[in-house]
Amino acid sequence: EPPSWHIDAAGRPSTPSRKIVQALGQGRADQLLLELATRLRNGMVGRDVLVRTEGDEFVVLTEENAPDVTLLAERIIHNLEEPFTVDGIPVSISGSIGISTHHGEGHDVEESLRQAYTALAQAKKAGRCCYRFFHPSMNRQADDHVILASALREAIADNRLTLVYQPQVNLHTGELHGVEALSRWDDPVLGMVSPGRFIPVAEETGQIRALGVWSLRVACEQMAEWIAHDIPVPTVSVNLSAIQFQDPDLVSQLATILHQTGVPPERLIVELTETAMIENFDQTVNTATAIRNLGIGLSMDDFGTGYSSLSNLASLPISEVKIDRSFMNGFGSTGNVRQVVTAIIRIGHTLGMTVIAEGVEEAAQCAQLRDIDCDVIQGYYFGRPMNTASLDAWIRERRAEAVPVA
Ligand code: C2E
Ligand code: CA
Ligand code: CA
Repeated sequence: EPPSWHIDAAGRPSTPSRKIVQALGQGRADQLLLELATRLRNGMVGRDVLVRTEGDEFVVLTEENAPDVTLLAERIIHNLEEPFTVDGIPVSISGSIGISTHHGEGHDVEESLRQAYTALAQAKKAGRCCYRFFHPSMNRQADDHVILASALREAIADNRLTLVYQPQVNLHTGELHGVEALSRWDDPVLGMVSPGRFIPVAEETGQIRALGVWSLRVACEQMAEWIAHDIPVPTVSVNLSAIQFQDPDLVSQLATILHQTGVPPERLIVELTETAMIENFDQTVNTATAIRNLGIGLSMDDFGTGYSSLSNLASLPISEVKIDRSFMNGFGSTGNVRQVVTAIIRIGHTLGMTVIAEGVEEAAQCAQLRDIDCDVIQGYYFGRPMNTASLDAWIRERRAEAVPVA
């Protein structure tokens, strides 16, 4: 990945990032970056190289050894955390730093850059305002990654991934509202690999495009079966990766799959997370509009975990919002979480959306969500993601018993 801008020898950055410009305007963004560069330059010595790669990400190449360079990294983090004042507006930024200490004579710059990027990836995983030194064991992790990527390629090619379906229940009627399709990979060698592990690998290696089309197709084929057998599953939701959402072929792929499977568009919902909307906003709006024009539902997943959430909700043709399951922690005990969830539900309704709460595990949460007028819930309380045979049985059982909600 090429650096998006450098801080040159005189401490001048080239172009500021889009996010900062959007927030502050061009003039203020330039001012902020100049001040940032000046701060960061302090403490860099000799042949040290500091590169801002993207957003809040930096790599440092230095020949200093660990104790000194630890101080340097601490200083950089500290300099970043100290709020800036731009035109009287306080601005806080954070950062992640990857460090290679194999810089200077006798070392290959490309190799040290690679090391620093590997360390940066670790720093990002560790959270905000962290730095990591490159360590040889990181290469081993990178190897694991390579193994996972090639096993995944085979699994996709051999059609060994499967979809499971988790029920979503209407809180007012107790009826099945729809199901969410979730990918599963049970590898003969690696065992069960969770989507939390393989989706990021698929995104990094570009396999997400194949995986994404596969999951859309299988979910629609399944929906066609449910329709053919009169099994009352009103909608199926499929997760789309941010990368897929930037794919210019996505809309025509969706149209083709619907056409080939004969599934009415309103029976399909695509789920999108907010990260997909942050970069390339204009294209996101276009794609979202084209999807809605096909008649397909558009759901904002994991709502409340990203940022600029409200403006995203208002400016995109979203039909459904899913409140992230982190809100279910302490939902019953503390007043504030409940207030926030209540507000999200009101906003969703004002904008004409269906509101789904995710990760509902307890009857008490269910009752409270109904009190504050949530439409639909999804979670272990009603059912885990399951294969189609189990889902059929689940639906039949519920109909037979007419299970009351909560
Ligand atoms: P997600 O879209 O937020 O999906 C919901 C996740 O929460 C699922 O995890 C589900 O099993 C889990 N879950 C459901 N109810 C409960 C509950 O009551 N309590 C708790 N603790 N968890 C619950 P899963 O299946 O491991 O998937 C993880 C993530 O991987 C998904 O999060 C989604 O972002 C991604 N993913 C899964 N399948 C696909 C796919 O086919 N394509 C893409 N792009 N992403 C996928
Ligand atoms: Ca989802
Ligand atoms: Ca979610």
